[in-house]
Amino acid sequence: MSTIAIFGSYVLSRKEGAQDVLRDHWVLIEDRKIAAVTRDRPAAEQVYDKPGRFVLPGLLNLHNHCFSEAVARSHTEDGNGRRNNQSIVYTVLLPLTKRGADLLTKEERLAVARLGILQLLKGGATTVMEPFRNTIPEMFDAAEEMGIRFYGAPYLFSTSDAKAGADGLVRYAGDDGAADMATWDTLYQRWNGRGNGRIGLAMSPHATDTCGPDLLRACAARARELGVPVTTHLAQSRAEVETIGKRYGDRTPAQYLDWLGLLAPDLLAAHCIASTDDDLKLMAARGATVLNCPRVFARAGVTAAFSRFAEHGVCTVVGTDGYNMDLLGELNAASLISKIVSQRPEVANSPELIESVTATAAAVINRPDLGTIAPGATADLTIVDLTHPHLQPLYDPRRALVALANRANIDQVIVDGRVLIDAGHYVHGDEAAIAAAGSAAIGKIWDLPEAQAAFAG
Ligand SMILES: [Zn+2]
Repeated sequence: MSTIAIFGSYVLSRKEGAQDVLRDHWVLIEDRKIAAVTRDRPAAEQVYDKPGRFVLPGLLNLHNHCFSEAVARSHTEDGNGRRNNQSIVYTVLLPLTKRGADLLTKEERLAVARLGILQLLKGGATTVMEPFRNTIPEMFDAAEEMGIRFYGAPYLFSTSDAKAGADGLVRYAGDDGAADMATWDTLYQRWNGRGNGRIGLAMSPHATDTCGPDLLRACAARARELGVPVTTHLAQSRAEVETIGKRYGDRTPAQYLDWLGLLAPDLLAAHCIASTDDDLKLMAARGATVLNCPRVFARAGVTAAFSRFAEHGVCTVVGTDGYNMDLLGELNAASLISKIVSQRPEVANSPELIESVTATAAAVINRPDLGTIAPGATADLTIVDLTHPHLQPLYDPRRALVALANRANIDQVIVDGRVLIDAGHYVHGDEAAIAAAGSAAIGKIWDLPEAQAAFAG
């Protein structure tokens, strides 16, 4: 049995169902489980006894895109590539990722996947849910190899080549997504449970405007048969709301999903920025979860306030959407944007935001063994070094974490009892080589004439 003892000047524990910050405690890991949380130093093979660290349950980042956002990175800021200030989803992300996945070799796609997962780990995540095109199955290979806990979500589309027309609306080609369901099933058979159970799948119909009723019903039925979560994009733009209203008798995207039986506790719906208040009340009543990724929308001048969803009673968790895989930075953005929008400093407070990427996120994927530090829990930990000058003096570690810390302060990341990040660096590979190979592969997409046109558009 392998044993690891970790000292925390602060340890985020739980007491009577709520967060409880312990001072000067040890966390003992035995193999893949947390064995004990103690005041006294336990005996262990490996001992990490550094002062000033905050030991947290492994953070869960339940919405991310390693590949498509790499394509957009540093090209689409400052309004670039946004025709009439519209979303880049259908003009840049979907078409260029589709083209890129075909253009790149398997090894190049793997290189992009590795670069993304490296960033996720260095951004503090131990678990990620990652929707991606099913032509990039190398996401699974990279996740298994690099040690992260991974819910792969290969997309299903009714409209497999979604592009916005000149009017900004996406035409629906109307095939039934059967080929994508067959691919999803094949990937499920191959990958679900691999890596000692670290690798799983989520059912992943892409969005309301790219998936027709038959496909969405089939997705829900298959997911419930297998007991896997369902994730999709919901009300992520005004254009999507218009499209769904025109197609389905003035329904909103949320009403469309509810009509088909998808609004339920197993649904994780990304963004919901164009939801009405009534939509959010409906989501709360049905027990669905909002995946809130505020930074990627802030980039486009769009508000995605955590507090708006939470105050409607919707279960809300924070993810990075791939744009900036710094989960601590994303919590900071969620906090600030919520305070600005509501003009109230007490909303989206630090414990609430930390809860959203630990216990709440674990609960919505039905994993009570994650998101908590307690005997018997799975040994996933995120450890933050609070000794940096910008985190001193320190009174409240949770406030410091959300208000002042960032990914550069992630000291260790442990998944399934295995140290992946130590002293801020990935210990099972060459970071510089991973970054260079991934960047070179994305560069091939950037060189395409259609990429140049999309970024200029
Ligand atoms: Zn997304």
